[in-house]
Amino acid sequence: MSQKEIEESLNLLQKDWDVDPILRQFMLGNISDVSDYSIKVKDVIFHIPYLASKKKYILWKCFWPDCHNCCDRQGRLPLTSDDLITIGKGLKYKKTSDFIKNETITTTWQDSSPSGQTTTMTTINLKRKKDETVQEDGTHISCRFLDKKGGCSMHPDRPGVCYLYPFSTWLENEKGMARVHATYQFTGDCPGFYLAEDIQQMKQELKDYSKIIYDYTLSSSRTMRENFGSVSFG
Ligand code: SF4
Ligand code: SF4
Repeated sequence: MSQKEIEESLNLLQKDWDVDPILRQFMLGNISDVSDYSIKVKDVIFHIPYLASKKKYILWKCFWPDCHNCCDRQGRLPLTSDDLITIGKGLKYKKTSDFIKNETITTTWQDSSPSGQTTTMTTINLKRKKDETVQEDGTHISCRFLDKKGGCSMHPDRPGVCYLYPFSTWLENEKGMARVHATYQFTGDCPGFYLAEDIQQMKQELKDYSKIIYDYTLSSSRTMRENFGSVSFG
């Protein structure tokens, strides 16, 4: 996401929510004394930004059901192979191939990891609107499964990636074993970020999300191995 897109999202967000001015500056890339605080919670290593000059961590909590911005301004819904079966069945498809043909769109897109490495991914994505086109990939679209009360009409069988936001994850080789890492994705759409001196305030969220993140990352990696998508680095 470009800084311009993040700024536009933040401007929209601030119409309804308070955003700490320091966090706004951070998200726009204007704060440089940021260090990475790593904390292992169960099977996941979380990378939490620490603003040295403010002596504060960037923490997060979710404001749902008062907020459903991540569904209102959805950018892409890549599906895992588990999602293809579960969601296909949930939408009453007898054959996964028919579900893929009618309800998904395949796109190729690039992402940057926190280490600066560029990854090119090809993924099968759930259409956020019935007539979604490849050209609309990565743009903000209000998801067709968002109901009038701000809930997901597919819940609990919604795509794994929906449980993940606002984290992004990756795998690293640690002594021959796959280690799951996670950090935030700052798109400017989530009002849940806040500054705090003590990381303990987010203890429960880190505990809850550790399992979600671990299961999703392994499922996503398996999806690539099963050729329901591809990933290349560099
Ligand atoms: S945008 Fe953030 S606060 Fe709002 S529902 Fe999504 S994760 Fe929660
Ligand atoms: S599928 Fe459900 S949880 Fe995911 S973006 Fe759509 S409404 Fe939100």
